[in-house]
Amino acid sequence: MEQMITKSQAENRLKREFQERTIRFYLENGRRYPWRRTKDPFRILVAEILLRRTGAWKAEAVYRRVIARYGSAETMSRADVNELEEMIRPLGLISRAKVLVNISQEIVSRFNGRIPNDLTRLMSLKGVGRYTANAILCLGYGQKVPLVDESVRRVFTKCLHFESNKPAYLDNDLWVFATKLLPDKRIKEYNLGLLDLGAMLCKHSISSCSNCPLASLRKPEPKHGK
Ligand code: SF4
Repeated sequence: MEQMITKSQAENRLKREFQERTIRFYLENGRRYPWRRTKDPFRILVAEILLRRTGAWKAEAVYRRVIARYGSAETMSRADVNELEEMIRPLGLISRAKVLVNISQEIVSRFNGRIPNDLTRLMSLKGVGRYTANAILCLGYGQKVPLVDESVRRVFTKCLHFESNKPAYLDNDLWVFATKLLPDKRIKEYNLGLLDLGAMLCKHSISSCSNCPLASLRKPEPKHGK
């Protein structure tokens, strides 16, 4: 006799599929960058600051040069800001040099040079927001926390019809929603897969649903009353 599937069982199945397909997408198609191959929280911090409003392909060479010269919070805290600005200049937004030096000095003076491993202390550093803090916690410390940027917000709004009218960093409900969707294992691969799906397929102007592994999980458009 066929068993009845409850609504919550169906939702759990859907969630599991969503997680597994996202992880598989990352393993098969994910973008490989040097900051994705390290667990060093300082390197992840540097990468996240260099990636702000900057394409990853552009940031890669600068990231390598900055890390080769200043590989720890200790060395960065003593950096010559003018020299660091010159290194960052090809990316624009050279004020990030001062941000990096200031954060490093704070890490040295308040945390003895060790990057904190909790959200509260990370976000107490001037210039570190929720996304950067969670990137350090997830990619550096393997913690179960979500990464939500604008491309992930697009996946949630376009594919799962999550209603969000604010930028990702301001939308607390979106972060709560993302947290509930997290798998128990392979958090890093899942988070990076979601970022890559959003950036590579679920684009702002046009979505490549026909090539997307999430296509069959896409929820139907909600019906709005008149
Ligand atoms: S199926 Fe389409 S809407 Fe859903 S994540 Fe993929 S590209 Fe975006």
